[in-house]
Amino acid sequence: MAAIHVLSEHLVNQIAAGEVIERPASVVKELLENAIDAQATRVVLELEEAGKKLIRASDDGSGIAAADVPLALASHTTSKIATTEDLEGITTLGFRGEALASIASVADVRLASRTADALEATEVTASGGKVEPPRPTSGPVGTSIEVRNLFRYVPARRKFLKTDATEMGHITEQAARVALAYPAVHLAVTHNGRSVYELPPTDSVRSRIGAFFGADLAEALIEVASEEPAGRLWGLVGPPQVARSTTAMQYLFINGRYVRDRGLLHALREAYRGLLEGYRQPVAFLFLTVPPDRVDVNVHPTKIEVRLRDAHLLYGQVLATVREKLLGPGLTPHLLPPGPVPAFDAVAAETSPDGPPSPESSERDDRVRQAVADFLRQPPAPAQHRLGLGGRTDTTRPAGQTPGAFPPAPRGFEPGAPAPSPASPPARSDEAPPPGRAIQIHNTYLVAETPDGILIVDQHALHERVLFEEIVRRLEAGPLESQRMLMPVTVSLSDREMAAVEQQAEALGRLGIEVAPMGPRDVGIQAFPLLLEHGDPEGTLRDFLAWVLSVDSPPTARQVLEQLAHVAACRAAVKAGDPLKTEEIAALLAHREAAQMAATCPHGRPTALILRRSDLEKQFGRDYAAGGKAPANDEALPF
Ligand code: ADP
Ligand code: MG
Repeated sequence: MAAIHVLSEHLVNQIAAGEVIERPASVVKELLENAIDAQATRVVLELEEAGKKLIRASDDGSGIAAADVPLALASHTTSKIATTEDLEGITTLGFRGEALASIASVADVRLASRTADALEATEVTASGGKVEPPRPTSGPVGTSIEVRNLFRYVPARRKFLKTDATEMGHITEQAARVALAYPAVHLAVTHNGRSVYELPPTDSVRSRIGAFFGADLAEALIEVASEEPAGRLWGLVGPPQVARSTTAMQYLFINGRYVRDRGLLHALREAYRGLLEGYRQPVAFLFLTVPPDRVDVNVHPTKIEVRLRDAHLLYGQVLATVREKLLGPGLTPHLLPPGPVPAFDAVAAETSPDGPPSPESSERDDRVRQAVADFLRQPPAPAQHRLGLGGRTDTTRPAGQTPGAFPPAPRGFEPGAPAPSPASPPARSDEAPPPGRAIQIHNTYLVAETPDGILIVDQHALHERVLFEEIVRRLEAGPLESQRMLMPVTVSLSDREMAAVEQQAEALGRLGIEVAPMGPRDVGIQAFPLLLEHGDPEGTLRDFLAWVLSVDSPPTARQVLEQLAHVAACRAAVKAGDPLKTEEIAALLAHREAAQMAATCPHGRPTALILRRSDLEKQFGRDYAAGGKAPANDEALPF
């Protein structure tokens, strides 16, 4: 083995570059972050050949003093920290002092900068790590850094670069991360002389999301916010309907830095539990602000991972804040009347919440939060008929309905047990009144009168949701109670399906589905959950096996149970086209309230639309008495 020797600075920088400079997008990230750290209000990013030929970032930030210009390109030189203590409370995006030196070791770099009090700018160039002496030049206050011929000095790396389209995709992603976290900074991006993004300063994160991901998505997002001692959370999350197949649309920022934090992203997914099919991933843009000394950013070369000192508190905060919003009221999509309606204030106020929330709405948020917090704290109570989000008790249960015997409404509805109707008012006056008059139309939708308008429900989606919630709730307490079949249902399966049945026997058992082999390719369903007495055992088993065989990686136990609950609920629920009796309609609508107020079926489709009385009044010009102001109040809605 050769003798040990000290590596040249150039080689050290190239090694460092190996870690942080993977492709043009990595350079873009470092340059944009430096501009943000320099308090720039406007950054122009110019690219040629997807950054392979040229990346130039020009900002109007603080600039670098003439004497410091050559230092900026040297390794381990930074203006952002000086002592070990500084490392404990980083408030800038950069601090390692490595980026520019790394970039200069693998490309040709020109840096020109001028501070506000300097008469002229200073420039310095470096090729392959060799820095030329600085010289005066002309230029505005701020900094411009040009990176040409990336990886010219490390051809091995250059070979790994992908097509321009792919590299531009990576660059856009990096630009988006900065643009979303710093909407007040004007960002312009050009590629081969053509404008790609022109993002004027704004205080609306939503409009930046619109610029990168489309206005439709941006408008669909729901605002979430909470403040706890561990941190302040603000964000925009997607309703279940906009879920994706990957986690790519989950943007988490901690103190203005884009990070991938497994724990917090897990909390986000948990918040959607039961609202999304097993493999769907929520869309979310979450901005977390924590005290700088409670987060260690010095754990990863590109700082994509951080260590949170209050990780468990923040986990709970993300989970509760998002889940409460998703389960809370106000998520039932509103029917928008056709054409522009000038006086549609009530809805407009709710759907453009980028500004600070009104005291009224935040008060309501607080109450919802409290209700959900109580609900989440409740131990599983299998023998209790839980209604709403907590706080509510069995007193609203219709007479004759026994606790624990949540009827698989409406098919299991006993004619002897009167459904809640206007004739059987709730026992407590502070509770939401039962639904008013309701009818079924097209054997598919239920239309109900509510104190403040009209509710239109998809009967299948709602029933599926009710059953799903009930299965999940009961699973928390233990295996579902099952009922033996008088005659086992025989199902013929393929070899793969036979193997899957064997593998998943335990999960099936937990749901109360007992399956026994009846031959080399036949199984018999011997028992089925009591709760789903009108379910479809064969369809449930087939749907479930189809899913098991379609997932790429082995699902977790929870995913398996969730999926099983989905297919069982879907198969057992009334279908579109099933005629329902009046009392069945009433029973189903009564359960809607019990279904945790979630506004979507487990597949993510909406279950209900609300047409408010105030909207009707506006449409029919009946709002003159109220001076065009909506008299209705959301809180009065029973759903
Ligand atoms: P770091 O950002 O970790 O400090 P860099 O290598 O990215 O390290 O930059 C080195 C130093 O150069 C920074 O600390 C900063 O003082 C200066 N610098 C780099 N880019 C800019 C810029 N756009 N505006 C002002 N100063 C800059
Ligand atoms: Mg930097």
